[in-house]
Amino acid sequence: MLRSAAHAEPLGLYLHIPFCLDRCTYCSFATTRDRSLQPETTARLLHQVRAWGAALERPAVDTLYLGGGTPSLLSAAELADLTAALREAFDLSPLTEATFEANPGTVDLPWLRQARDLGWDRVSLGVQALDDVLLARLGRIHGAAQALEALDLAERAGFRRRSADLMVGIPGQSLSKVLGDARTLAATGLDHLSIYLLDLDKACPLRAEIDAGRLALPSEDEVADVFEALQTELPRLGLAPYEISNYALPGGESIHNTRYWERRPYLGLGPSAASQMGDFRWTETSVIPAWTGGRGEVELQELDPAEALAELPLLGLRLHRGVDWAALRTRADALNLRPLTDGWEARLRALVEQELVLWEGDWVRLTARGMLMSNGILQMFV
Ligand code: SF4
Repeated sequence: MLRSAAHAEPLGLYLHIPFCLDRCTYCSFATTRDRSLQPETTARLLHQVRAWGAALERPAVDTLYLGGGTPSLLSAAELADLTAALREAFDLSPLTEATFEANPGTVDLPWLRQARDLGWDRVSLGVQALDDVLLARLGRIHGAAQALEALDLAERAGFRRRSADLMVGIPGQSLSKVLGDARTLAATGLDHLSIYLLDLDKACPLRAEIDAGRLALPSEDEVADVFEALQTELPRLGLAPYEISNYALPGGESIHNTRYWERRPYLGLGPSAASQMGDFRWTETSVIPAWTGGRGEVELQELDPAEALAELPLLGLRLHRGVDWAALRTRADALNLRPLTDGWEARLRALVEQELVLWEGDWVRLTARGMLMSNGILQMFV
């Protein structure tokens, strides 16, 4: 069943590199500072790439994404081996985008040039802020100057496609600082900017500092003001919104990430990596030694047709262009689930009055205000 799903259309392939030089104070990803595991983990990843390529009979892949952790901690030889294994195990002839994430504190020109020569064509840099005090608070291993230098090095290495992450909601971060950082980043000529809200849901050192009263998070209103100001400022800088948290120059949209919002199939390999094909979804263990030793449990979920249908607007409304509602209705009819889409439609139409939703022909999308309140609106599909 998976094999036919994997051949229905090209896949996206995500590889998780779970190593970091140091732990950021807010991080809850499956990563470790224990680099002694790196050779073994990379060898296991190579094995998994080959095994999945063989099991799925060398399916076509049109987007690659090397995430983490810190993929830029791979040695030149590890990156070359991994890239060669990907080319062998999967049909990369339809490849449209090959992204890797990099920490600005770990890149140099020779490594970036090699990555570019190997065919990686897009780099996503975790900048987070351009203020050394805030970066230290986040436990980042780089300062602001190093972040800008990394963007410059990537350009010199031949990366036409460069993205940066900017974080909102950091204790001590002001609106003018975020806007200033956004302007400085846009001036580097990058083609993509992701705006993330600092998420401290899980236990982490920064959460403990806040709970102890030593630091304070900005209020919800302050954070909302920042997001609203960015909605106005970034398009002025040429970076148009195409998803709730993502802005790009024309043609700079992340093709790989867009597949998640379009609910297109992907295979994820590495600790904590998630995959989705057809109505199956699975997540590998986040316990790194267990994954590396091939002992980790895989969490498998089969979505029922109603759950799978609900994911289309749940994810699709994150995109600026929204959802083709006529196509969604047709799909619902084929599944005998029309009452479900009719119910959502009634609720969305009520939100048109409040200027949170726009209905244009067959398409429905969130307005700029709707994007700011998307958490509440999208709850109807959960
Ligand atoms: S670099 Fe990223 S993955 Fe690594 S600790 Fe920091 S936030 Fe976590």
